[in-house]
Amino acid sequence: MTTIYDVIVVGSGPAGACAAWRLAKAGVPVAVLEKAPLPRYKTCGGGIVGRAMQTLPVDVRHVVEQDCHTAQLNLLDAGLSFTTHRSTPIVSMTMRSRFDFDILSAAQFAGAAVHERCAVENVSCHGDFVTVVTNGGAMRSKFVVAADGALSMVARKMGLADGRVLIPALEYEVTIPPCRLDRLHGTARFDVGLLPDGYAWAFPKQQHLSIGVLSMAQRGNDLKQAMARYLDLLDCGSSTQIERHGFVIPIRPRRGPFVEKRILLVGDAAGFADPVTGEGISFAIRSGLLAAQALIDGQLDEDSVRNAYTGSVAETILPELQRGRFLARLLYHFPRTRSWAFPRHGQRLSEAVTDVMAGKRQYRDLTFKPRTLLRLLSSKWLRNSAYRPARPHDDRA
Ligand SMILES: Cc1cc2nc3c(=O)[nH]c(=O)nc-3n(C[C@H](O)[C@H](O)[C@H](O)COP(=O)(O)OP(=O)(O)OC[C@H]3O[C@@H](n4cnc5c(N)ncnc54)[C@H](O)[C@@H]3O)c2cc1C
Repeated sequence: MTTIYDVIVVGSGPAGACAAWRLAKAGVPVAVLEKAPLPRYKTCGGGIVGRAMQTLPVDVRHVVEQDCHTAQLNLLDAGLSFTTHRSTPIVSMTMRSRFDFDILSAAQFAGAAVHERCAVENVSCHGDFVTVVTNGGAMRSKFVVAADGALSMVARKMGLADGRVLIPALEYEVTIPPCRLDRLHGTARFDVGLLPDGYAWAFPKQQHLSIGVLSMAQRGNDLKQAMARYLDLLDCGSSTQIERHGFVIPIRPRRGPFVEKRILLVGDAAGFADPVTGEGISFAIRSGLLAAQALIDGQLDEDSVRNAYTGSVAETILPELQRGRFLARLLYHFPRTRSWAFPRHGQRLSEAVTDVMAGKRQYRDLTFKPRTLLRLLSSKWLRNSAYRPARPHDDRA
């Protein structure tokens, strides 16, 4: 027999759980379908930046293993280091299994039905309803929120235009003695220069370090070597217990639309990760809430919902990603520009990005003096300093 809901949310990450929470709170019959057994592991640094914490509608303080009020940016190739401090946490360290499950539990408490080990295999729209085929049978809903992550099966089945840039990232959970863990206590560390077009990070958790590396150039091959070098740099090379994980991060949004018929795309499925840092939880939460709000305000009317969600994404998320992309290109694809800018403006740039992470400013508030901008944008300068990525990004900004 077909089970019927007003809204089916596919995926129980922060995007899906937040959408379900908002809908359930408004009394909308909603179900979350999650293919994994819950709580599920997610390959992720588990760093929840202040911007994400501020957007989060539920209290998750008890799953925070460590608050980092300090961020350290090291430019290894230039021998430069910049440290920023804030009175509120810049990044709060969590394990994603607990963080995501906490939000989902709040959604369930508010009235959402949760189906775990329920893999969606197909979706199809028929007039005013959607059929969702799962490994456990078919379900029906008026709308589907596709929160099924970077490899979104729902988007693929719907034949939605992509255009996202998916970059590879590795994340290792490394057990080290407490005395060495203490050295990073309260500090989120970021290292640029270990590989030409990306960065590495070290996040202290309660009993281990979460270490990662990502490449903006869409090449995965060099990452393992970069990670081996990073482990040595952090004096973790001899650690016996290392859990190795890898996945992709979408650092450029889909071409759109973000709503197709009765399907709304949110989070990584839409491609809403931050192009500068690869941080994806802030806009996963934001887009999940916006999608839910569009469904509520649009009273499940197809045109109203589409207009509301498309409008709110265009107003809030897309301009941020566009401005972030500009900064990311300067940071990662033009090493000579970076070498010129950081000795002069490194602390200011670090403070600015810290403010964005902490949720105190937005990328669109960051301004460059006209002279600096002219110098950065001078075509001769960029032409001479450009690092050519394996597959150049065709920037639509
Ligand atoms: C190595 C790495 C490190 C990262 N570190 C950070 C970090 O420190 N901070 C940060 O903010 N971001 C980080 N990110 C990015 C962040 O993990 C994502 O942007 C974020 O998880 C997106 O949330 P989401 O809800 O859209 O998708 P997800 O969290 O990926 O959730 C998608 C869910 O959908 C489920 N699903 C998928 N397909 C189906 C299906 N067919 N049927 C049912 N369920 C399905 C999955 O099992 C999953 O639970 C990192 C990413 C990587 C790869």
